[in-house]
Amino acid sequence: MSFLVLNPAIELHEGYTNGLIVHLEKGFHFQIDSDMLGLLKKSINKPFQQKTKDIESKAIDYLLNHDILKISKKPSSKNTIRTPELRLHSIIHQNNIQELASILTKLESIHIFDYEIRIEESLNYERCTKLFQILDSVEIDNLDLLIRTESLSLNDMVNIVQDCQFYLNLYVFNSSIKESYKTQKISITPTDQEIDFVNSCGKINQQYFLFDEKNIQINKSHNACLRGKISVDPNGMIKHCPSMEMDYGSIHTTSLETLIQDSSFTKYWNIKKDSIQSCKDCEYRYVCTDCRAFTKNNEFMEKPSKCNYDPYAGMWK
Ligand code: SF4
Ligand code: SF4
Repeated sequence: MSFLVLNPAIELHEGYTNGLIVHLEKGFHFQIDSDMLGLLKKSINKPFQQKTKDIESKAIDYLLNHDILKISKKPSSKNTIRTPELRLHSIIHQNNIQELASILTKLESIHIFDYEIRIEESLNYERCTKLFQILDSVEIDNLDLLIRTESLSLNDMVNIVQDCQFYLNLYVFNSSIKESYKTQKISITPTDQEIDFVNSCGKINQQYFLFDEKNIQINKSHNACLRGKISVDPNGMIKHCPSMEMDYGSIHTTSLETLIQDSSFTKYWNIKKDSIQSCKDCEYRYVCTDCRAFTKNNEFMEKPSKCNYDPYAGMWK
């Protein structure tokens, strides 16, 4: 006897109305409606019947031909969740560059090497040069740097950043520069948009969904935004995210080694989409990003307020 089994490379994510199929090896994904979802669930691990001409058999042929179902000699199980290794990372929102230096040194002591740094005040050539001297004095692997400048040209920026030792994504707001710049390690993306960290972060949009296995596994076991995140707000207060209200003391007086072992802090890293209202019924919950700072009706365990998807209607508004 042979059985219909789900291809091990397929992730099937069930929502209240629709389903989502993600092919991890071939890199494609598509949404399926409730009929196809029901048929697929009903077929998995069932004995494979020889082909007939009815609609169900045609649908199963379709799933076999598209490498979603396979025929196997025995039923299969696929329940393993492999959580990728924890890597600490930080968002720092800070205008004072000397203060930034001292914050980076503190965070470096607990082996944080991945950062998003937000600087709201306009930078001129001198301040920007000073900023990169400071960044080069600490160990950084990856940096998303969000700055504002009205005076720097693209050439100025390339001159300042070209010798940096880390992977850099530089986003330049309030800029009149039209061209961008890209090398293997550095990208510079200017925009004429006003800098606005509060409104630009936490947006939920299909273009931000990540369909790779690592992200899916993190979403099944942890919070995609907060896991491993230790942020510092403009007043030097430690928070999960600079836009959240709750703080855990000043970066200058709090022991970070103790904080990252404290479950009252780290429990926020584990808020899965499966426990969030509405998201728990959404087929996108394991590929979506999350936001715990801006939530529907300001309820902490509600879905992000910047999400326009209704998993019950199966539609984007
Ligand atoms: S919690 Fe929301 S606002 Fe804060 S970093 Fe995450 S996505 Fe951005
Ligand atoms: S309801 Fe919105 S935020 Fe929640 S998982 Fe679905 S798309 Fe993402």
